[in-house]
Formats: sequence, structure tokens, C-alpha cells
Amino acid sequence: MSNQPNISSTMKWYLSEINDVFKELSTHREGLSNAEAQTRLEQYGPNELQGTSGKSVWKLVINQFMDVMILILLAAAVVSVLIGEASDAIVILVIVVLNAIIGFVQEYRAEKAIEALRNMSAPQALVRRGGTEARVEALALVPGDVVLLEAGNLVPADMRLYEVSSMKVEEASLTGESEAVEKNSAPLTEVDLPLGDRVNMAYRGTIVKDGRAEGVVVATGMQTEMGRIAQLLQGSDSQTPLQKRLAKFGKQLSVIVLVICALLYGMGLLRGEDPLRMLLTSISLAVAAIPEALPAVVTIALALGAKRMVKQNALIRQLPAVETLGSVSYICSDKTGTITQNQMTVMETWQPDTVQAPDLEEFSREDLLLLCISLNHDVKQDEQGEYLGDPTEVAVVEYVKKQPAYQQEWIQRYPRVNEIPFNSDRKRMTTIHQFGPKYLVVTKGASEAMDDVSVDDPGPILKQAEELACEGMRVISYGYKLLDEVPHMVKEELIESDLHFVGLVAMIDPPREEVKEAIAECFDAGITPVMITGDHPATAKAIASQVGILRNEKDLVVTGRELGKLSQEEFENKVESIKVYARVSPEQKLNIVTGLQKKGHFVSMTGDGVNDAPALKKANIGVAMGITGTDVTKEASHMILLDDNFATILKAVREGRRIFDNIRKFIKYTLTSNAGEIWTIFMAPVLGLPIPLLPIHILWINLVTDGLPGLALASEPVEKNTMKRPPQKSSEGIFNRSLSVHIGWVGLLMGALCLGTQVWSMNIDNPKWQTMVFTVLSLSQMGHALAIRSDTVSLFKQGLMSNRQLTAAVLFTLLLQLAVIYVPFLQDMFHTQSLTWGELGTCLAISSIIFFTVEVEKWVKRRRLNSDQ
Ligand code: ATP
Repeated sequence: MSNQPNISSTMKWYLSEINDVFKELSTHREGLSNAEAQTRLEQYGPNELQGTSGKSVWKLVINQFMDVMILILLAAAVVSVLIGEASDAIVILVIVVLNAIIGFVQEYRAEKAIEALRNMSAPQALVRRGGTEARVEALALVPGDVVLLEAGNLVPADMRLYEVSSMKVEEASLTGESEAVEKNSAPLTEVDLPLGDRVNMAYRGTIVKDGRAEGVVVATGMQTEMGRIAQLLQGSDSQTPLQKRLAKFGKQLSVIVLVICALLYGMGLLRGEDPLRMLLTSISLAVAAIPEALPAVVTIALALGAKRMVKQNALIRQLPAVETLGSVSYICSDKTGTITQNQMTVMETWQPDTVQAPDLEEFSREDLLLLCISLNHDVKQDEQGEYLGDPTEVAVVEYVKKQPAYQQEWIQRYPRVNEIPFNSDRKRMTTIHQFGPKYLVVTKGASEAMDDVSVDDPGPILKQAEELACEGMRVISYGYKLLDEVPHMVKEELIESDLHFVGLVAMIDPPREEVKEAIAECFDAGITPVMITGDHPATAKAIASQVGILRNEKDLVVTGRELGKLSQEEFENKVESIKVYARVSPEQKLNIVTGLQKKGHFVSMTGDGVNDAPALKKANIGVAMGITGTDVTKEASHMILLDDNFATILKAVREGRRIFDNIRKFIKYTLTSNAGEIWTIFMAPVLGLPIPLLPIHILWINLVTDGLPGLALASEPVEKNTMKRPPQKSSEGIFNRSLSVHIGWVGLLMGALCLGTQVWSMNIDNPKWQTMVFTVLSLSQMGHALAIRSDTVSLFKQGLMSNRQLTAAVLFTLLLQLAVIYVPFLQDMFHTQSLTWGELGTCLAISSIIFFTVEVEKWVKRRRLNSDQ
């Protein structure tokens, strides 16, 4: 039976005792049952802020007809009826509808792909339902749910906290206060406290910086404090930089095209042509030559590319990342889990003879280490007996349980009464246990971090730790002390001090198999890989050498401490030689990104912890870990590695380069075709010839010949040399010199071939000259599409089957073109005539000139490349 609470949005939860809160929300510490949660979800709706969903289908359909060009075309249809060409009007309408269908299908696919990506990166929350902990989508949270928070979480709903351990929350998004607020669980007494002072509450959208807590959800979705201000939040700019650039370029081009069309119209009138027909011709040319679809095609290419990347475990969170990936020149990567397997195994332990436990006589030196290891960790076991938790801790637990002297009852006998969770800045973790009448403090951490808080002589310990680290091992040091009582507020400075050293545990975390190859590929692709780690410099150096990041004496290894001593200028002078950063704090990652960017590099930076977020945001490609990453890093990232694997970044770069190349090929194809059309139509009257094509021919070429093969170019597979050339220069943009030159000369040649065909066939009084020009223009564009599949590689080497979509599109377009020429009813509509075999062969021969000359252009480029190498 569901027992749904009647929650008022004005309840002051921070004033109530927690048991009253539970009662009010009809829930308890074990959480709601799954069935109850489901019923409440139906009642309260999903935990989401409104106005964040994508475009609706209707909006997409309407968008297709909202284009100015389409509206002009519809006007052109009316003009056709006026001049008594009803069949033209029908053809125009059919073309408009087909255009809309193609546009809609593509955009719908892209929209779906983006939506799927958005859903995949939707945040999750750890809840307790029916007594068991489980990860659920944050969308499914309901009032009354019990949620467990830890460092790195984005608070998923408004919550009243009742169990808090050293938790600090950054509430800048809500209160504007950037200093993290320390939370606790006691009820407050002051009515009408501002949000920032309600220290036993955690609000949706704020960030857990440190510690952990348990709380009960009191409000979800639009009922949360964030929901109340959601109207103020502005939608993000959805256009990518490339789209913006293309939209601007498109506008400039439109002006040029419109001027040309106006000139064409003027010339037509002067020559005494029918004004309405001339108007229709000019409008058709404008419609055909203005590349209005460019930004849309870019979205489609990026979105479909992002969809492919997911299959390779790279989840794109922000579309512009796809185009930026191709320019990445530095990949800065974490070590643990990304370059290494994150599967640690303890190899050895070390204790000097001097270790004594005067106040713990019942334990031998060895047993004391085992006791410390078994008490200080957060590893849990699931129902199948699998260990869950931080791999460093799983390794020590697996080790300790195998030791004959280990006693399982220790954990019950010395229960944990308090703790200071691990964080990457302190590099330590402490637990406090009831120990008879006293309290046992156990701390573990990086050896230098323990050195700061230990009373023993650090010399021999650090020497031993260094030796183990040189073998590529991660070394954890243990210390302890006994307290008579636990202070009321458990503060690091009080607890983590005056410890006695117990021993070192060294574990190995082997590199991932595929990483060595990926790193070699980085160098081939002109990308510099850099390792950034919280680990010991000697461990980092050993692993970096194994995988090939460190290649010679000039490659530097720098520690966070050394980094801190360098001035900004000194750092910037050195930054390109530093290949390994060890013991760095997450804040220093931001300096590394900035330093490299100042040198003109495009930087990809990985991260998992909550403090990595600023560096990820600043990087050109911020990469979050999918498995070990926190919500906050994922939220700040451009891309998520679903498998945490370094090699996946390289796959994403390869895919990014492919997409960028293909967008460029699409642009090359479309703009060259448009140029060819303009030259043909515009130059004819200048040379005193009749306009060679009818308006519907121009529109047909725009829709069919330009459309299908153009889109198929976007699915061109990755070229063999893609990862053998340096990254795309960020300053260059998509229009480089060679692209402009190509568009210029091929467009001109296309126009010349068409006009040549016109002159020649008119000279021999061939009445089918118009059909021939129409065919030559159409076929030469097919040849062009095939030839520009690669910038350098010949089609004869690539083969027709390596991009079947394009081959199919070319064949299909060819078939349609033949249908328009030979099928009687289409002949009537398009005013065409059947060509003889000889005439068709002549058209084919003339149009193939484009294909062969572009092949020659590629051959020249190949030779130049070879002689450069
Ligand atoms: P990387 O930066 O390469 O991914 P990491 O993220 O694992 O490494 P940190 O988690 O910051 O690095 O760990 C830094 C150091 O802190 C480790 O070298 C280890 O000595 C120590 N350490 C790691 N995990 C724990 C833990 N659970 N308890 C105590 N100390 C730890």
C-alpha cells in the first residue's frame, strides 16, 4: 500500500528532528521500497528541470519549410503557373517536398543521436531502496528516497542530511558563495535561515567537494530550490564554432550569388528574354548556388560521428568537441586506470626492525600492519563476494585476507567510530576505532604525505619507498596512534599528527596492453602524450618509460612541488619538454593546460576527481572517466571515456579527424558544384549564348546531383594516412588555401566543359544540345564526387567498394538522370530528349575530364608529399 506524503514546498526541513522528517515523508533509513518509489515517481513526476528536452518532430518539419530559399522557391512555383508552365510548378513543388523529406530525415537522425548521447550521460545517484544500495538515474529520484553522497557528486535533489562525515559542499551555483560549506546533521533552530546557512541541507546542483553523507530527498525537479530559479538559467548556445563560421560564410556567399543572379536577370532583360522566365531562372540559380544546408550538414556529420564514437567507448557530451578533436596536439592523461589497468596487486610489504607498538603489546610488528590494513579501508563485498571499491584498497584487502595471521573478528572487535575520507590533496585517509576504553587512529597514504604527520625518522622509510617506486610500484604507508578520547570535531590537524610508522605496502598496477601502441600512434600523429599522476615520481617514471611516453634524456619528469617553485615564465619555457608530472595536485592541472595553450597547443586533459573539473573545463577537450569519474568531472567534460582507456582517446581523435576531413570534402563537393553551375548559367549570356539550362534542370541538379552524393561523402571511411599527419592547425579553419584553389579551378573547368558542349552541339545543329549540357553538368559532378574521396590517394587504389554508400548514391543518381532523359513522361516534365548512344557516350567522355584532372591534381600532391618526406 502506498502511503504518499503531502509535501508542502514551504516546509522548513532544516528545523525538524530527522525522525520527524522521515515521518513527514513516510520513509525511513532503509529507504523506500522499489514499488513505492515507482508510485511516487508517477505522482511527483521525474526529477528534472523543465525546458531541457530537444527539438520536437513538428518543429523539425516546420523548420524544413521556414528556409528563405524554400519560400522563394514556392514563390517561383507561383511564377511558373503565371507563365503557363504548370508542369514546372509541379516539379518545383515535388522538389521542395523531396528536399524537405531528405532534410527532415537527416535532422531527425541527428536529433535522435544527440538525444541518445544526452541520455547516456544523464547523471546517476546512489540510493538505498528496500535496504539495498543501487545506482539509479537521478531522473528517477522521488521525495522520501534515501541518497548517499560522496566527494565528486552533484547533489541530485534537495535533501535533508542526517549522517555526515567531513562533508563540504560548494553551493556557488545557488548562493554565489564559492567557499565550500561544511555540513552537519543536527537540526537548526533559527527560522528563516538563508539557503547558505542551512548546513543540514544539500541542494540540487551543488557540488560535494569532500567527505560523505546520507540524506533523505525532500524535493525533486521543479520543486527544488534550483527548480525555482531554473527560469533564470539560459539555454546554452547550441551552434558549434564551425557551424557559426559556416553560417557567416554562407551569408557572405549568398550576397555574392544574389548579385550574380541580379546581373543575370538584368542581362536577360536587356537581351529581350521573357521577364518572368528570366526571374524563374535567376531564382533557381540562387536557390541552387546558395549553400544554405552547410550548417545543417555539419550538425548531421558531427552528431552521427558522435554516435559512432560511442561504439568505440567515447561518449561526446558537447558536439563542438567532435570538430575540436582533430586539432588536439597534446593529450595529458592520468596514469592510474587510464594508462594502467587499475588492477592493483600487492607485491610486497616492508617494515624496519625499529617498528614497535609499546601501547599495543598484544600485536606483533607484522600483525600490527595486518590490523591497520584490515581496519582502514572502505571496500565492500557484493552478494557474489566480489570486492567493490577503490582498486588501491581492494588490493590491500585482497592481500590481508590471504595472510594466515589475519583475523576476521578484528573489524567487529574494533568498530569504526569516525573517519576522515581520502582526498587527492592530502593523499591520506584516516579511520578511528573503538579500542577497549581507548581509540585507535589508523592512517594510510602516500609515503611523503605520511612523513608530514609521523614522529619517526623519515629517512630510511622514504629511501625504501623510493626503491620500490623505481620498480613502477605504488607504495602506501601506514601509521597509527592511540587516543584516550575522540575530539568532538574530528579535524585533520588534530587527528592526523604524531603518528607511529607501521609499514609500507607496495603494489603493482601494470600498463594496459593497448597503451604502448596508442602512444606510438600519438607520436606518428604529431600529438605529444603527457602523463599526469598523483603517484610517486619514481613510479610514474618507470611506467612512463615502459609505455614509451619518456623517450630520451630531454624528456623531463617534474613533481608538483618543483612545479610550485617555478615562476610562470620559467614554467612556460619548460612546458613543452615536460612529459611526466608526478605528485601534482588537481589544481596544478589547470596551470598545465593554460601553459600549453599559451604555446598554441590544443590540449586534451583527462580527470576523474572533483577538483579536476576546472582543468577539464579549460582544456580544449576535457575528458572524464566513465567508470571512476565523479559526476562533477563528467559534468565539466566535453567527452567521457566509457572504458577509462587511454587508447580510446586516440580512437576519438582519429574519428574527429575523419569527420573534419569529411565535412571539408562535403564543402569541397558542394561549393565546386555550385561554382560549376554559376559559371555555366552566368557565362552563357556573357558569351552571347542562350541560357543553357531550364530552371527545373538547375533545381534538379541542386536536389539530386548535389544532395545524395554530398551526404554520402560524410560516410567516407578514415583514410590510411589520417593518423600519420600532424593535427589540423587551429588557426587554419576549414577553408585552407588548397580547398579554395580547388573550388576555383574545378568549378571553372566544369563551366567550360558545359559551355563547350553547348557551343559544339549548337554548331552542329543538334537540337538536343540542352539535354546534353544538362547531362554533362550532372555527370561531371558524379565524377567529381568520386575523385575527391581522398585528398591524395587515387580512386583506383581506394576502390569503389570502400565507400559503398557513395558508389550507391552515384549509381542511383546516374539512374535518375537517365530516367529524366529517357522516360517519356519525365521528358515532358523536364523538357528533355532521348540521347543516342553516341551522344550519351560523348557526354560521359566530356564529363569524365573532371574526374581525370582531379586525379592528376592528387597525383601532383602525392609527388609533392613524397619529395617532402
Ligand atoms: P593518477 O593521478 O595517476 O590517476 P591517482 O588518481 O590514483 O593517480 P591519487 O588518487 O591522487 O592518484 O593518489 C595519490 C596517492 O595517494 C597515491 O600514490 C597513493 O600513495 C595515495 N592513495 C591513493 N589511494 C589511497 C587511499 N585510498 N588511501 C590512502 N592513500 C591513497
